[in-house]
Amino acid sequence: MAELNWLSIQEAHSQLTSRQISSVELTQACLDRIDAVEDRVQSFLTLTPEIALAQAEEADRMLAAGEGGPLTGVPVQIKDVMCTEGVLTTCASRMLENFVPVYNATAVERIISRGAVMLGKGNMDEFAMGSSCENSAFHPTRNPWDLERVPGGSSGGAAASVAAGEAIYALGSDTGGSVRQPAALCGVVGLKPTYGLVSRYGLIAFASSLDQIGPVGRTVADCALVLNAIAGHDPRDATSVTREPKDYYAGLGRDIKGLRLGVPEEYFTDGIEPGTRKAVEEAVSTLEGLGASVRPVSLPTTRYALACYYIIAPSECSANLARYDGVKYGYSYQDTDDMWEAMEKTREYGFGPEVTRRVMLGTYALSSGYYDAYYLKAQQARTLIRQDFDRVFQEVDALVTPTSPVTAFKIGEKTGDPVQMYLIDVCTLPVNIAGLPGLSVPCGFSEGLPVGMQLIGPHFSEETLLRTAHAYETATQWSKARAAI
Ligand code: GLN
Repeated sequence: MAELNWLSIQEAHSQLTSRQISSVELTQACLDRIDAVEDRVQSFLTLTPEIALAQAEEADRMLAAGEGGPLTGVPVQIKDVMCTEGVLTTCASRMLENFVPVYNATAVERIISRGAVMLGKGNMDEFAMGSSCENSAFHPTRNPWDLERVPGGSSGGAAASVAAGEAIYALGSDTGGSVRQPAALCGVVGLKPTYGLVSRYGLIAFASSLDQIGPVGRTVADCALVLNAIAGHDPRDATSVTREPKDYYAGLGRDIKGLRLGVPEEYFTDGIEPGTRKAVEEAVSTLEGLGASVRPVSLPTTRYALACYYIIAPSECSANLARYDGVKYGYSYQDTDDMWEAMEKTREYGFGPEVTRRVMLGTYALSSGYYDAYYLKAQQARTLIRQDFDRVFQEVDALVTPTSPVTAFKIGEKTGDPVQMYLIDVCTLPVNIAGLPGLSVPCGFSEGLPVGMQLIGPHFSEETLLRTAHAYETATQWSKARAAI
């Protein structure tokens, strides 16, 4: 059976429902591919082949009975930041190296109950803090397009597994760009939904006002199918919105004639790699050729976004990660009778350097005397950033920007300088600050490495973003390119 592991969800679904293939065959093809390339890519932290095959058999039963939907029987990788019942969930941290949740995250539950096949848990930067997957406490993941390079992060495993043909799709999480940026660097599609559209229940918290789960897939349509499954109200997440989710797949074929697109000048300035700029500019022309009207717009507060994010995200992280004190969760230092020493040693051993840096930054920003100068100021800047977006969305339906200012960089290239690493997310994190949806779709190559175009829209405009990206994808060939690994 030829290369089943490279099918899209859509293709797999049609072959599964017509009984041309079985889910067991499809799953086995992914497992074989993992056997062949995983020692080089290392996109997984935990592999669950027995679970996958059992779920595949169950999916085959569902399909034979005419039950199930688009995700039934289709293999997925799940980022290790999401709780999976009975399956190790480490967040790529030594703190949680033995943590086995007793329940599934809601997003995971929603795909499993629709017959998903879980191949295993995806590598990531520790607690989702990072942009390269190099902050994983266990091992880095490599970019399938060039094994000397990073896949991006923090959902590096998600993007690499899809780009390497190991998984058909993946679930990632995005706090400042962690779904979109690795998707861009690995040449696949990634969607960060509007804040509140997908439940965060069972998503291990990094920065609760920014975190959101999103799909990584080979095609825009695949991301729409996954969003259909995971979106919707969850009473177990107080920030989950009650509005009815739409059918994000149904509108995909519609054209984009008359769509008003804005190109924000602030996203095309210094530091953007020339090949990336060229690819995104060409993509904008393609969209214009498809009937969209394009105009320059300005979002002047963009320049505050990085500073604002690196106050708010560490502040929330310092509060969220306070629970890892060796008492209830995860690693616990036992070699002392002194409670304070036990906590100190637990955190010293359990957290890696980037997590420690964030906790310290956040604790500082929240401490009395500094709160007004840092945290409060950042919240005020957040309001201005949001208002800037609100203003341009009166004139345009969506924005087009690069997803990342650079293509995949060499492993080790940026680990010495945290600020260089933070700058990788300049184009993505304003979207989280404002709670907006953002999507990255492949739009070409620069020196052989994939480039992603980001589409940003007003709250709950996923339909428009998906329709636009789908029209672009259909008019070009970029999403069909495969890494030669
Ligand atoms: N790279 C950003 C950070 O380190 C974003 C990470 C994410 O989206 N989880 O905070």
